[in-house]
Parts: sequence; structure tokens; C-alpha cells
Amino acid sequence: MSVEKAQLASFLDSSACSPLDTARFCSNKNRYTTRWLSTSTVCRPLSSKAVSLAVRLHDGLPPASDLPTHCWLGKDSVCNADLTVNPWHCLSCPALKCRSIYRRHNAVVDLLLRFARAHSCLAHAIKKDLSDRVPDGLVHFGDRSVYFDVSGVSLTAPSYSHMAPGAALRARETSKVTKYFNFARDNDAKIAPFVLDCFGSLGKKSMQFLDSIVEESALDLCPSMTKSSFLTQLSVVWQAGNAKIFQEWATEMRKLAHRSRQRPSVSLASRFAGTCRA
Ligand SMILES: [Zn+2]
Repeated sequence: MSVEKAQLASFLDSSACSPLDTARFCSNKNRYTTRWLSTSTVCRPLSSKAVSLAVRLHDGLPPASDLPTHCWLGKDSVCNADLTVNPWHCLSCPALKCRSIYRRHNAVVDLLLRFARAHSCLAHAIKKDLSDRVPDGLVHFGDRSVYFDVSGVSLTAPSYSHMAPGAALRARETSKVTKYFNFARDNDAKIAPFVLDCFGSLGKKSMQFLDSIVEESALDLCPSMTKSSFLTQLSVVWQAGNAKIFQEWATEMRKLAHRSRQRPSVSLASRFAGTCRA
């Protein structure tokens, strides 16, 4: 065992290693997770700002060194998440669910559809209804149809800290299959969850879904998007999405702080009282 591996093993066994550290190391160990680090000709490279944020997430650092202690976002009620517990709360902030978090999700849906079409499948997105009881897309193979649903798991959230490495991805995969099983069965199809964590590591069923798509074009010697190319693009798209989420979150927080200074009598002022780190 190399010195580095021995030191890592020693750290993972020590009391200094938090559950999040364990999850982070296990996720980053996946060779597909860090493809954004390598130079690629298949997609636009990440901006320097996005690279900086991706490195901070990868290395267990907060997205910025001057974060407030709590999240102030929210329309009807303040989010109030404790950023000292989860500095990457922005990746799962309820106030951004229908905004940048949803756009990151849709970018993955679009990429998956292009990958399926590049492998002789027919694929299209499904219009979401208000009840959110339909999956994201449908892929027609020669002998079957499969619905898929994309989902991101923010491992940095305290709700996942008690879980063993990989358990959160498996739990989300199971919940997605359960959620859409009847819908898929009633439409003579299967359901494939496509789950990845905030670092970009994919669930087992996600990889199986990709492999099944690749098998569909076994006779095609030169598909326009290989699995390797897809995984590289996914890694870049996901980290770019993370960066956009943090940017939107930070901008909204700054806007609220500015308004509070302009009109200190408004109720927002109470949000900031004593919430900034010294
Ligand atoms: Zn929040």
C-alpha cells in the first residue's frame, strides 16, 4: 500500500473523520465523479469560478470563507438552515428547488435524451404535471419502453450523515422505483431511476440504465456519443450546475442583506440579527 493510501485509510478509521468525510471520499473515489478535472474536447470546459467551487466541494471546504451562519431565503417562511452544520446547504435549499436546482436537473435530462438517441433509441421528455407524479422521460428500445427519472442527492445535508457510504443513493433509487412503479406498469413500461450525488457519483441503477442504452446500439460501430463521452459531459454539466446554484443562492442572499440595510424597519432585518460569523 502506498504512503498516501495508508494515510487515507488511517484517517478514515480515525475519530477525526466525520460521516460526511467518509461519504465524500467514497464518492470521489469513483473514477467517473472527477472527470471534470480532466481536459476534454467533447464539451466546453468549466469556468475558473466553477472549477474553484468544484475543488472546494471535492476537498470538503465550504463554498466561500465568509458564509453567514443561516440561510435567509424563502418567501412565505425563512429557510433558516444552519450553514455551520451544512455549508453546502445551497445545493438543496428549498428556495432554489424550482430555480437553479431544477435547471441543473433538466440539463441532465437533456443530456440523457441525447445519449439515448445517439444509441438508436427513441427518447423524449415528459411534461411534468402539477402533482409531480410522472417521471422525467421515456426511452423506447426495440423490445421495451423505460421511463427514467433524474434525481440529485445532497450528501452534505445532515439528514444523510447517519447513512453508510452508498446507502443514500440506493435509498433514493428505491424511492423513485416505488413512486413510479404503478405509472410505468399501467403504461406497459419499466422505470429506471437515474440518481447521482452532489459530487457526481452515480448510483448502481444509473450505470445499469446507461449500459442498457449502449447495448441497444451494439451493431453501431460509431455512435455519436459514447458512454465515456456522456460521463465526461455529465461530470462537467453537474459541476457547472452546482456552481450556478451557489451563484444564485449567494446573489439572493446578498440582495436580501442589501434590502435590510436600505430599510432596516422591515421584518427582514430580524433575519440578520446575530446571524453573521465574527
Ligand atoms: Zn435555504
